[in-house]
Amino acid sequence: MNNPIISFVSQLADQEQIAWLALLSAKLPYECIKLDKDLSAVEKTQCEIAIVANPDPIILSQYSKLIWIQSLWAGVDALVTQLTDNKPLPSFKLIRLIDPLLAQTMSEAVLTWVLYLHRDMPKYLKQQNSSQWIQHHYLRPQERTVGVLGLGKLGELSAMRLNENGFNVLGWSQSQKLIHGVGCYSGDDGLITMVKQCNIIICLLPLTSDTYQLIDNNLLKNLPQGASLINFARGGIVANEDLIQQLDSDHLEHAILDVFEQEPLNKNDAFWSHKDITVLPHISAPTHFESAGDIVAENICKYRLNGSLPVSIDWNKGY
Ligand code: NAP
Repeated sequence: MNNPIISFVSQLADQEQIAWLALLSAKLPYECIKLDKDLSAVEKTQCEIAIVANPDPIILSQYSKLIWIQSLWAGVDALVTQLTDNKPLPSFKLIRLIDPLLAQTMSEAVLTWVLYLHRDMPKYLKQQNSSQWIQHHYLRPQERTVGVLGLGKLGELSAMRLNENGFNVLGWSQSQKLIHGVGCYSGDDGLITMVKQCNIIICLLPLTSDTYQLIDNNLLKNLPQGASLINFARGGIVANEDLIQQLDSDHLEHAILDVFEQEPLNKNDAFWSHKDITVLPHISAPTHFESAGDIVAENICKYRLNGSLPVSIDWNKGY
């Protein structure tokens, strides 16, 4: 007997949907994968698996027999909120994309932008704009403490890569970790103890009700004078006005922001022209098309073989 149809549910542009469908169908030749719009109401009620990328939750609710859904993205906070806010928890499991290549890409971005701050690039950029020749004192990486908020798939590898490059690295997570070369902290007290030591902090936390606006005045004030922030996780984790206040008062030196509550960032947003902010258009770790296809295919093959699934999102924790 044939496997039930797998639905592809997304709000991506038509061309992108077609490209994903072609890739996934090539990697899963024994599966029948169809776009949601090409399925009848009866076919939808027979689907056990959906592959999703920014799906419309109302469309997903038409799939009454879903056992699991596979996201093509690593960050699923928006989907989790849409599926759980003021609703009974879904009966199906949500698997996000866990791709070692993505962790490599993120760790490369973390190293790149930490080096950018470490070697005083924001200062030299400003100096060039006003034809100033000032040589700043060189510090060795060992003399900089870098703190990573979130030691999951992306944070752990990033912390290790920073350590390999000579930085003094600390990290903070929900559960206490033990990572070679990284001073690990957990809990509210651990967060403040860590932050007080950091010249640079990097946010790689998921956006949940616990992490929403976690990086606020209170936390930023605990950083040493002249520290910098990198946010590669989600815009909602940073309290924007507090960040601007800390930059304007010169308590913080610079912020590198790759993620925003509203994306693309509004043309009128104050971040664009702030002298101490680098704005990036959500590019620190994009999903790699081929590699993501391999991982999704592997997850589906294992499920068909023995019913096993990778670790799914904990609906109560929100990540
Ligand atoms: P992950 O594997 O789920 O790791 C999350 C980490 O955060 C874990 O260490 C977790 O602690 C910790 N954490 C969660 N809630 C916490 C809390 N309330 N207090 C302390 N620690 C907490 O996630 P990931 O794959 O590393 O991805 C992290 C985030 O990166 C994603 O959620 C996404 O938003 C973002 N992202 C951005 C891009 C980009 O291009 N900018 C690309 C991909 C992903 P435990 O280990 O104890 O659970």
